[in-house]
Amino acid sequence: MGVKGIFQCRRCGHRFRARAGGGFNFRLFRCEDCDRTVVVGNPIWPDMPGTGDPVPEKCEYCGGRMRDDIPPMCRKCRSRDVELVVTEMLYD
Ligand SMILES: [Zn+2]
Ligand SMILES: [Zn+2]
Repeated sequence: MGVKGIFQCRRCGHRFRARAGGGFNFRLFRCEDCDRTVVVGNPIWPDMPGTGDPVPEKCEYCGGRMRDDIPPMCRKCRSRDVELVVTEMLYD
């Protein structure tokens, strides 16, 4: 289940809007370095090659590593010690 909402940084208190997590038919990757996000569709039939989107390995902007298991990054101090304070939308 993915979520979109307002996150607050535990380090500097900055609030920002972001989304996190993937869903039933997609995964949300984010760059370790610049926090750029990429949505990748999951294969509809996992055994069938060629379905679904290729999983990104590198951020196309900065070359950083793409991961789908990290929380959003604070835009101000670049900490990932953040918590969701307002949920605006849940989606699969
Ligand atoms: Zn990047
Ligand atoms: Zn911060």
